[in-house]
This record gives sequence, structure tokens and C-alpha cells, in this order.
Amino acid sequence: MNPIVTISGGGIIGNYISSRLSKNNIESIVIEKSTEEAENKNYIRTLTLNSFSKKLIDDLGIQIPLAKIKKINVFDGEGTGKINFSSSEVGEDNLSYVAFFDELQHELNKKAYQRIIHGVQIKDISEDSNTNSLNVLLSDQEIVNTKFVAGCDGRKSKVAEISSFKEITGNYHQTAITFTAKCSLKEVNLAYQIFSEKGIFAIMPLPANNTDSTHTIVWSVNDKRLVNSDINNYVHKNIAFFEKQLFTKIEISSDILSFKLFNHHVKEYMTGSIVLIGDAAHSIHPLAGQGINLGFADADAFCEEIIKGYEKSNNINQKLVLKRYEIRRKNMNLLMLKSMDFFVNLFRSENLYIKLLRNFGLSSVNKNQFLKRFFINHASGKNKI
Ligand SMILES: Cc1cc2nc3c(=O)[nH]c(=O)nc-3n(C[C@H](O)[C@H](O)[C@H](O)COP(=O)(O)OP(=O)(O)OC[C@H]3O[C@@H](n4cnc5c(N)ncnc54)[C@H](O)[C@@H]3O)c2cc1C
Repeated sequence: MNPIVTISGGGIIGNYISSRLSKNNIESIVIEKSTEEAENKNYIRTLTLNSFSKKLIDDLGIQIPLAKIKKINVFDGEGTGKINFSSSEVGEDNLSYVAFFDELQHELNKKAYQRIIHGVQIKDISEDSNTNSLNVLLSDQEIVNTKFVAGCDGRKSKVAEISSFKEITGNYHQTAITFTAKCSLKEVNLAYQIFSEKGIFAIMPLPANNTDSTHTIVWSVNDKRLVNSDINNYVHKNIAFFEKQLFTKIEISSDILSFKLFNHHVKEYMTGSIVLIGDAAHSIHPLAGQGINLGFADADAFCEEIIKGYEKSNNINQKLVLKRYEIRRKNMNLLMLKSMDFFVNLFRSENLYIKLLRNFGLSSVNKNQFLKRFFINHASGKNKI
């Protein structure tokens, strides 16, 4: 096998990259450690796509049911601070789109199917200086000769480990809880985010063809609140607080999933002809639903640089191509990570003065059209993140 790009990880980002490169006649293979895709999709976990990510999947011809978000109301559940975002404020039809994770993963699996090798992983990568390429040893002892290795294998990336990428990690000491629920909110395309001592609670509409459940909830809770309570109990005991805030009954309609929340960011995105993309390079708090959007923006920049490089010559300078990708993405991602951490810390604080300040801050930004447009344009993907 001599693909130009060997991708470790057939998640959303790895499969997207393989499909986009294939559309541009650049050969790739995807090494995915899990065996064939599980058939029992649970339709619980969701992703919020911004308009730029949506365009990327549209361009691949992927059609999946999406729920549109036109307005987001954000407020402090224990104070008076609030801020409302609306797509009409920036002249857009929608702010973002909610998709089922399984649905997008499944469609991208179908697109990349012929190029995915399941049940194996990369064991070693060595340089072949004679041919200016890499030899990749797989766990089934097969050797792949390739020009680039792209680590798209998530937060605990094997490629990062093998190639000794250095990372900065942090623990939010929070757990993200997610489930679907039936409830009747005031408007169909409206999402809410409530900051409170009981956690950061986001409720968003679900794609319309799912008749069973109408909303998805992503709720991040400080771990110290979960010490004496199991997650199911915590949800059932505290959901009434948010029902009161939203003036609606929230009827849980799925299993309750939970994930420990960490952040990480690698110091460099590339070494030689090896590169990290998506969650392999960075992971972020789900507070603003930007994880997958950063990954798509990375994937787009990586594909653009490779495609541009091969348009000019077959003999490209791999390091230069990857350096361009790194320059385009690293600072942008770092800025988003730091901003998210700032919000998480601001809303975690139970200090009275900080509470007053954040209530004042939210309401002030709400009155400032310039700042509001800035936030909306970045979060919705109108301005590239
Ligand atoms: C509760 C929760 C809610 C979230 N909500 C949102 C949201 O609303 N919006 C949003 O944008 N983001 C959200 N995210 C983040 C988002 O899910 C991730 O950013 C995204 O899935 C990253 O995609 P990826 O393809 O880079 O990595 P992953 O999804 O981690 O995929 C990695 C792939 O690599 C494979 N793999 C792992 N190790 C190896 C190996 N050694 N060899 C080969 N293959 C390997 C895995 O099996 C997997 O297929 C959320 C995350 C959580 C935890």
C-alpha cells in the first residue's frame, strides 16, 4: 500500500479528510482501531454544527436530518444576567444546526468505507530518507509506505504518543451529562443555556424526523456535586430547577450518558511529515458546542494545503505543507480554548462579587450590538474559527 496520506482514526474528522482528499484524487487510507461500525446507534449524543461545518458536509453530498437553531437565550439561573443571540442580528437564516453524532458518523463511514481498515492501529512510524516518505507499521504487521501520517485518533492519540508530541492538559473537574427529553419550549428553533450552581445546562431542538424525543440536553456539572450522588440520581433530583427556569416539564426520554471533561492542546501540530488534527490536537469544554467545528476547520485547512501542494507538483515539501496548516490553525484553536476556559471558570465561581460581575457582564454585552455580532459571527462560523 502506498497512499499519499495515512489517517489514524476513522471518527468524523478522519473520515471527512479521507473523503475530501478522494474527491480531489488524492489517495488515503484510514486505520481505525475499532472493528466494523456498531449497528446499535443510540441517538442520544448530538453535535452542534456551525454554518461552515455544515457547508463542508454539504459539499461532500452528505444529507442528514438537522435541527435549526435561530435563537439562543443565555442566562444566569441564580441572577439577573442574560444575553440573547438571534440569527437575524447578523442577517443569517440560522445560528447553528443540531445533528445526531451517530448519524453524521454513519454517513461519513459510508463515504470513506472503501478506504477504512478496521481492527488495526499504528504501532510504529519510521522515516525512509531515500524516498522522502514514511514507513508505517500496523498492528497486523503490514507496512504502509506513505507521504503523510495524519493523527485523527482523538484525545488519546496513538500518533501523538508514538511521535512524542508534547501536550498541555487540564482537568475541568466537571462531568458532561447528556440525554434527550420531551418538553414544550416557547419556540421550535430556540435553544437555551442556563448557568447555575447546579451546572451549565444547554437544551436544544433535535432533528425533526425523530418523533420520539424533541430536545437534547448537555449539562456540565462540577464533580464535587456528584461525590455523594450517582449521575442518574443527580439528574432526577435537580431537573426541577431547570423546569422552573424554563416554565416547562422536562420528560427524560433516553438513557443518560456521561463523560468526564478534560482539555488538552499539543504544543506543536506537526513534526516532519506527521500531523495532528481535530481532537487529537485539542479538546475543549462542550459549553459552546465548538469541538467538532474546530476539528472541521482544521480538516479543511489541512485538505486545502495538501490539495494546493499537489496541484503545483507531485514532489511536494511535506514539512512546508504541514507548517502552513499549523500556522493557520494553532493560534485560532488556542484562542477558542482559552476563551472557553475563561467562561468555565467565571461561571464555576460561587464568589458573590464574581456572580454580580458576570450578571452585569452578560446584560451589558446583551446591550452592545457590536460585541453581540462579534460573538455570533464567530460561534456560527460566519467568521472562520
Ligand atoms: C458530552 C459531549 C458533548 C459534545 N458536544 C459537542 C457539540 O455539541 N458540538 C461539538 O462541536 N462538539 C461536541 N463535542 C466534541 C466532539 O464530539 C469532538 O470534538 C469530536 O467527536 C472529535 O472528532 P474526532 O474525529 O477528532 O475524534 P474522535 O471522535 O475522538 O474520533 C477518533 C477516532 O479514532 C479512533 N481511534 C482511537 N484511537 C485509535 C488508534 N490508536 N488507532 C486507530 N484509531 C483510533 C476512535 O475509535 C475514533 O473512531 C462533545 C463532546 C462530548 C464529550
